[in-house]
Amino acid sequence: MTAITIVVGDLTSIVDESVQFYFNIMTKGTILEDAILRFKRIAPEFVCTDCGHLFTGRSIGIRCPDCGGKSIVADKGQEFYIESVEVDDGAD
Ligand SMILES: [Zn+2]
Repeated sequence: MTAITIVVGDLTSIVDESVQFYFNIMTKGTILEDAILRFKRIAPEFVCTDCGHLFTGRSIGIRCPDCGGKSIVADKGQEFYIESVEVDDGAD
């Protein structure tokens, strides 16, 4: 069985079910038709560029809980990539 692991950050607007839906359409009739998609969600993390404090949160537009600074950048949560592909070589 072929399995593809996809990493998706929670700050993206990417919905697992949508990716699966379009994957099914695009792979119909190909060798990937029966491949399994595994989704690994990444919780958002932010860094304050004023004091360097690393913290978790739910969205952009928040203040640093340490110094109150407003210069916040996302450190995690914007991922969208294929982490691994397992290919069935028919050995079993
Ligand atoms: Zn700060």
